[in-house]
Amino acid sequence: MGEAKRYIKAVYQEVMERDPHQTEFLQAVKEFFNSIEPVLERHPRLMEENILSRIVEPERIIQFRVPWTDAKGKTQVNRGFRVQFSSAIGPYKGGLRLHPSVNQSIVKFLGFEQIFKNSLTGLPIGGGKGGSDFDPKGKTDNEVMRFCQSFMTELQKYIGPDTDVPAGDIGVGGREIGYLFGQYKRLNGFHAGVLTGKPIPMGGSLARTEATGYGLVYFTEEMLKDTGKSFKNQKVVVSGSGNVAIYAIEKVHQLGGTVIACSDSNGYIVDLEGIKIETVKQLKEVERKRISEYIVKHPTARYNEGTVWEIDEEYQIALPSATQNEINGTIATKMIDNGVYAVAEGANMPSDLEAIEIYQNAGILYGPAKAANAGGVAVSALEMSQNSLRLSWTFEEVDMRLKEIMTKIYLDCRDTAAEYGVPGDFVSGANIAGFLKVSNAMISQGV
Ligand code: GLU
Repeated sequence: MGEAKRYIKAVYQEVMERDPHQTEFLQAVKEFFNSIEPVLERHPRLMEENILSRIVEPERIIQFRVPWTDAKGKTQVNRGFRVQFSSAIGPYKGGLRLHPSVNQSIVKFLGFEQIFKNSLTGLPIGGGKGGSDFDPKGKTDNEVMRFCQSFMTELQKYIGPDTDVPAGDIGVGGREIGYLFGQYKRLNGFHAGVLTGKPIPMGGSLARTEATGYGLVYFTEEMLKDTGKSFKNQKVVVSGSGNVAIYAIEKVHQLGGTVIACSDSNGYIVDLEGIKIETVKQLKEVERKRISEYIVKHPTARYNEGTVWEIDEEYQIALPSATQNEINGTIATKMIDNGVYAVAEGANMPSDLEAIEIYQNAGILYGPAKAANAGGVAVSALEMSQNSLRLSWTFEEVDMRLKEIMTKIYLDCRDTAAEYGVPGDFVSGANIAGFLKVSNAMISQGV
């Protein structure tokens, strides 16, 4: 076994012994470690500097109590987190997730991925992530507001436009960012740059709402183009029906593909004529209802409980945009049997390690999350730029920059993979390209 391999194994052992129960975090580290042997071989200085042990340990983890009063006047308590993972190339940047599954392992895996994703955007942002095990589902507007106010009362001590800039993720959209921003302002005054994904009147960027979904499709389009393919006349399945899924569906349709199915955590809808995006927007963004309601308006569609990846219809492109580990080895095999030749990830870590191996062995075009879904955070960084400049760009201008960034990320992944001897392996390409910039910055800054 070579020195680089031994070193990677030893550091992984170290991480495992330190946090044996953090399965999602360990999975994210393993996926990253699987890619970087050729980098360490080429740059032994990284081993001398013990860069891996340093990069897997967050600079800081903040955990706090979030007490709030529910609609019945009862006091509830949730747990809040912010992981400030890496500030090597800029202020910590990453979303806040509100979901009952949130714990330290989840926020650490997300924060770890965010370091490399943010580096890939080419913009000066470090990696962070936060959230709470609060479940916004079924809560009244007022309950969500009181929760957000309490959460920010504590979080505001640790964030700022030049230190740490949170944004949305699962369970956090414009409404929640508005409440969080209001509370930050009450305590510290108006600082537009402290959060991104803001509603437009308070310094939000046009095209931020669309950015992750549109960016995912721009990335995929580049990946397809390289093999002489395109979205035209292709059938696509998108899991999820949240912010990422909605705008991915919209863009696929604009590019001539047909999204035949999407889902929520209860079940999925299949509409062979193409998902009617206005109905999904109305249900999910306005009425906050379940996706099953879709068939009330479109009776030729069908609804089933379970995961969307169970469908038997043929399709060619899969855009998993729901949540982590939604695709395991069995599902990956089924997808390929259904005719899938390209997978690009709108969610963070939606494919487990076995699924990734199956894609790679089958020669599937595979765009990993940290590259394919970087459009959201990229436009967040553009929102920060606009806030600093105290101006706002048009939708077209932001969208054009987003497209340029996604194309650059794709080319960077492709060319880095080829340069390091693993052509076509965009997982390695993304990990290596993201890692090189961060590790060089870390070395320059000293221990
Ligand atoms: N939560 C998004 C992500 O996973 C966006 C983060 C941001 O805009 O800061 O990248």
